[in-house]
Amino acid sequence: MLDVARVREDFPLLKTGIVYLDSVATSLTPRQVVEAMDRYYAEYRANVGRGIYELARRASEAYEEARRAVAKFINAEGRGEVVMVKNTTEAINLVAHSLKWRKGDKVVTTLLEHHSNYLPWLKCAQRYGVKVEVVRPSREGFLDLGEVERVVDDNTRLVAVTHVSNVLGVVTPVKEIAEIAHEHGALMLVDGAQSVPHFRVDVSRLKCDFLAFSGHKMCGPTGSGGLFIGREAWSELDPVFIGGGTVEEVDVGSFALLSGPARFEAGTPMIAEAIGLRAAVEYLERLGMDSVEEHERRLGRRLHEGLAELPGVEVYGPEPRYKLGITSFNVEGLDPHEVAMILDASRIAVRSGMHCAQPLIKRVLGLARGTVRASVYLYNTEEDVERLLSAVEELARSVGRHS
Ligand code: PMP
Repeated sequence: MLDVARVREDFPLLKTGIVYLDSVATSLTPRQVVEAMDRYYAEYRANVGRGIYELARRASEAYEEARRAVAKFINAEGRGEVVMVKNTTEAINLVAHSLKWRKGDKVVTTLLEHHSNYLPWLKCAQRYGVKVEVVRPSREGFLDLGEVERVVDDNTRLVAVTHVSNVLGVVTPVKEIAEIAHEHGALMLVDGAQSVPHFRVDVSRLKCDFLAFSGHKMCGPTGSGGLFIGREAWSELDPVFIGGGTVEEVDVGSFALLSGPARFEAGTPMIAEAIGLRAAVEYLERLGMDSVEEHERRLGRRLHEGLAELPGVEVYGPEPRYKLGITSFNVEGLDPHEVAMILDASRIAVRSGMHCAQPLIKRVLGLARGTVRASVYLYNTEEDVERLLSAVEELARSVGRHS
């Protein structure tokens, strides 16, 4: 079990008394991560991969150690490479514009996606003539594997699916979808923005070709994240950005790219952020991802069930056993932004609106104004959830009386 009281000591921002229920958007940062970045700035700040002096060697080693720590965290060692990126969106765009598209290629994605795993594919349709097909989930967010089998065919080059919905919290069967993709010779991209921070994600078990995730959602600094590229997918990519740091050799009219992940990291990378991400990964490992998941599932269940039983409150998504600690809801008679503003007055931070998932919210849930979304992470307590529930109950009661 997680010792949450102790965990909370590591997060200075919690001392302000805020009930932070928006970790889906970005997590808070433990002091260990900030300290690791401080050490880089104070003790060995230099550029990486270039200098031969001691300071530069130390910075380069720390940067590569960060890459190794992240690779280990998702069990990627020996299975492919991890490219350091600034967030999930960059990772997915990197794949979208580096894949060597062929005539007739098709991408299969779903209506469950965050815009960051949707718009890049629409862009590929505009720019490279790629055909995009979309699988529609049920209202709870379930994907029908039969439907996936029907849509994925031998022209499918890539299947791109989120591991966990940032709106409904539902966990998708990405391993099974990867099997379908591979049967047709297609590559599988998993948007791990909402899975990697919350439970153990193992790329060898999922058998995905790409896994994109954001460090800032897993206790790491903003501007940090990773893209796993599997060995089989490696030769299918041609880096979209090149320049300093990406080349083995350059001559007047020619160049040869590096063979490792640095070929995708053009220019000076986010060095301090990568070092901070390593500290975040080590922090999560120390707590144990199984304990993190167990804690979130317990709080998530209470959050979902507590909201679902309030009169005047509508909850979206599947029952708790199919999802993580994310719950979207609405209070009858109130705009989601009004709810978030009123809760903010009680120092409860929740997200409201379309959550960068307009196709899901408009076309699947049929909501013009979006939802209120509360999400829990490793530093949240039962008390946080109860404070939200009481505040929403009072709000729903007051609206009911006056309307
Ligand atoms: N995919 C999902 C499922 C997300 O939840 C998010 C962030 N809300 C993203 C992609 C984009 O992440 P980032 O803003 O870090 O690029």
